Amino acid sequence: MALIVHKYGGTSMGSVERIRNVARRVAKWHAAGHRMVVVPSAMSGETNRLIALAREIQAQPDPRELDMIASTGEQVSVGLLAMALKAIGVDAVSYAGWQVPVKTDDAYTKARITSIDDARVRADLEAGRVVVVTGFQGVDPAGHVTTLGRGGSDTSAVAVAAAMGAEECLIYTDVDGVYTTDPRIVPEARRLARITFEEMLEMASLGSKVLQIRSVEFAGKYKVKTRVLSSLTPPDMPLAEEMASGTLITFEEEQSMEQAVISGIAFARDEAKITVMNVPDRPGVAYQILGPVADANIDVDVIIQNQSVNGMTDFSFTVSRGEYQKALEVLNGSVKAKLKAGDIVGDPKIAKVSVVGIGMRSHVGIASRMFRTLSEEGINIQMISTSEIKISVVIEDKYLELAVRALHKAFDLEQPVA
Ligand code: ADP
Ligand code: ASP
Ligand code: MG
Repeated sequence: MALIVHKYGGTSMGSVERIRNVARRVAKWHAAGHRMVVVPSAMSGETNRLIALAREIQAQPDPRELDMIASTGEQVSVGLLAMALKAIGVDAVSYAGWQVPVKTDDAYTKARITSIDDARVRADLEAGRVVVVTGFQGVDPAGHVTTLGRGGSDTSAVAVAAAMGAEECLIYTDVDGVYTTDPRIVPEARRLARITFEEMLEMASLGSKVLQIRSVEFAGKYKVKTRVLSSLTPPDMPLAEEMASGTLITFEEEQSMEQAVISGIAFARDEAKITVMNVPDRPGVAYQILGPVADANIDVDVIIQNQSVNGMTDFSFTVSRGEYQKALEVLNGSVKAKLKAGDIVGDPKIAKVSVVGIGMRSHVGIASRMFRTLSEEGINIQMISTSEIKISVVIEDKYLELAVRALHKAFDLEQPVA
């Protein structure tokens, strides 16, 4: 009798019929003798609808109230799913995050889970119930409702699995696993049977929204066995078949099969570039520019400093598009005057494309193949950033899809691994 956590995304919970299917699938696992905790998202479109409502009242919604509103989508989902389970004879109970409680810090709209008290859930499991817990939300030390950032239900599920020592966390979604790239952009993309945690972390952090990055961090830190699979298969398909489907996130030491050099291509459209021109090239400048940006709680991604000419240089970096205006304000405030810098120019029309693969560690020439492919397509590279297992480039956003398709082909990703 294993403890299993299931997570169902918005599309999987998208209609009463789909919720009934989720209930049938969960009932099958329960009937096989597993103790089940289920973490659903809000019905598809619901979180967007709630946030849009809030914005109609206040263009920049008050973060506490926004979380109060945005968290309700999941509360509807847990109630409906618990009812659908009861309707087919499975004893079930639903909980909001604060009832568990799922404790977080107080960073509204992007709170981090700090701990989960599992006593109440365990008691229900012992009593034979299926426990349905809201994704995406938690409660801060002062008792306020918080949310975990968009896509946060993945993190709720993996965190619950980690806290309770679950045998496996199954993330059910509208694709049947993790693909070499987003199948909506490249129809030839191929499902990966396995992907290492390190690669998944890069894919998620570089823009593949199939898993929220913090869920992958939890999976890695607590070694949670995590699988991404489809909720759109027949709910009564044989359990053994279901357990072997999708994409398993593995740890590098378990990777036995021949490893492809590149596992996938990730991309992000939601960044913006800022250049501070004509700053003196001397120690402390990067800190003087980026310190105040960090103090404003803005994450900086790719950074580049140009060759200096006559002791002066240009300094560029990217931030998420949502924080672009705020970053410009910070720089145009005290930073510009203090540094006696030139103009501060911004470009929100950029995109980032990354190739990811642990095989890069033992293969040379990946970067040159990437750059050659982009040059053959006439795509100018504005910035480059690398790590041991990824190469990212910043390009003009109108070339994004072309770049992803060309790179997918250049690295033979549509071909199965030999
Ligand atoms: P859910 O609502 O179930 O959380 P999401 O929309 O958050 O689902 O994530 C699933 C979507 O992620 C897919 O429909 C797909 O378009 C997108 N996606 C992006 N990159 C990938 C990838 N590498 N593999 C699979 N899906 C991807
Ligand atoms: N409902 C939330 C969102 O749309 C959380 C999630 O779906 O994971 O972002
Ligand atoms: Mg999601």
